Amino acid sequence: MSSAHYQALEPQTSDEDNEDIERRPHQKRPRCTAAAAPPHPMVRKGSVGGGRRRCVLPLVGGTLFFIAFCYLTLSGDTRIALGLGGASEDSEEASHQGLDSMNFRPLNESLHVCSENFEDHRKFMQDKPRSDYEQLPVIYFVTPTYPRREQIPELTRLAHTLLHVPRLHWLVADDQEKCNGYMDTLLNRFGIPYTHMVSPMPSKFRNEKPAPRGVANRRAALQWLRQHNLTNGILYFGDDDNTYDLRLFTEIRKTQRVSMFPVGLIADYGVSGPVVRKGKVVAFLDSWVAGRRWPVDMAGFAVSLEYMAQYPYVNMPYKPGYEEDLFLRSIGLKMDQIEPRGNNCTEILVWHTQTKSKKLGMVRLESKYLDDRSNLGALLLNLKLMGVAGTTENEGRNALISKNGREKSHSAILS
Ligand code: UDP
Ligand code: MN
Repeated sequence: MSSAHYQALEPQTSDEDNEDIERRPHQKRPRCTAAAAPPHPMVRKGSVGGGRRRCVLPLVGGTLFFIAFCYLTLSGDTRIALGLGGASEDSEEASHQGLDSMNFRPLNESLHVCSENFEDHRKFMQDKPRSDYEQLPVIYFVTPTYPRREQIPELTRLAHTLLHVPRLHWLVADDQEKCNGYMDTLLNRFGIPYTHMVSPMPSKFRNEKPAPRGVANRRAALQWLRQHNLTNGILYFGDDDNTYDLRLFTEIRKTQRVSMFPVGLIADYGVSGPVVRKGKVVAFLDSWVAGRRWPVDMAGFAVSLEYMAQYPYVNMPYKPGYEEDLFLRSIGLKMDQIEPRGNNCTEILVWHTQTKSKKLGMVRLESKYLDDRSNLGALLLNLKLMGVAGTTENEGRNALISKNGREKSHSAILS
């Protein structure tokens, strides 16, 4: 698979979950939820049970025609939601519409793999040869990222953390249409197994305030996992600007179903995470509840793919603030299943650091000087490819070039 439009994922449909979701006023409930689902290819153990219940129309003694009509509609939706119908999801440039998982409005989601490498080119990690780690389950580290001036530095910093982590596949999903060749080269150089994909936010969400940041790309990564039928390993959503303690990776690798742990530097309390009593998660500490059953940060949990494979309607909705909650609902999480990590959630293994964003730099320099008489042509080209700075011939102030503390004319230095 290199490029494809793909189908939206469907929310899991437990009655309990939907009751909660319906309480939120601005969220419409699908008219007829996907219910009579054939098991998804990733499903190993049946878990769709209860779905068909929801299909029962509130018609007392409804006609056979109506039931048949409903059934056919649901089957169609389900096929689409699961990516089973129509053109194959991994066909080249297969063009079909996804569905907005909540409203069933068409979405135009796409996933294109720019480059990938399944081989680990690192020889040593944390002073041990790679072969020492062969038995460990793989961590699928999903990083949504988007083009802005800080993108390459963020990814470089993150890569230097991940370089120390054995048995990791880095899924870098860029929120833009086109592959950034500079990023391909960068990711390749680290030697960490990776997949670089582009999966832009559907245009209809771009101008929403707040916009669903990093959702299209996380959804694409989930789609990639499904396409590869990966039912072994650990899934973790690791944003490009967070700070990760290496102990985090040791902790999440033990995940049987869902691990949780506190995230530092979140909102008012400087922390968000589970409340643990007698080794069990019993509640959550987070300054923004808003009806969320799982008020946790995206970086505050990890999921076993074997566990997730039981849930065919894994969903990461375009609903700012509720992505984590609805994702965890979609995998049928129960409180007593949560595995507290980080010494019973007493330690911080991940920080929600945020990088101040600035607009693109602009260097005013005559194009005739952007040749190989100096380094500036190549340097500014690199900065352009990295999305850090552009050049202009006539906008703004002339670029300052100085010598011995004094400004010099461009011609004096560059001609
Ligand atoms: N992100 C994205 N597209 C956007 C904005 C953000 O893919 O338009 C990514 C971003 O690179 C990060 C994640 O989504 O990995 C969360 O975004 P951000 O860090 O800006 O949000 P915050 O951490 O402040 O909630
Ligand atoms: Mn962030």
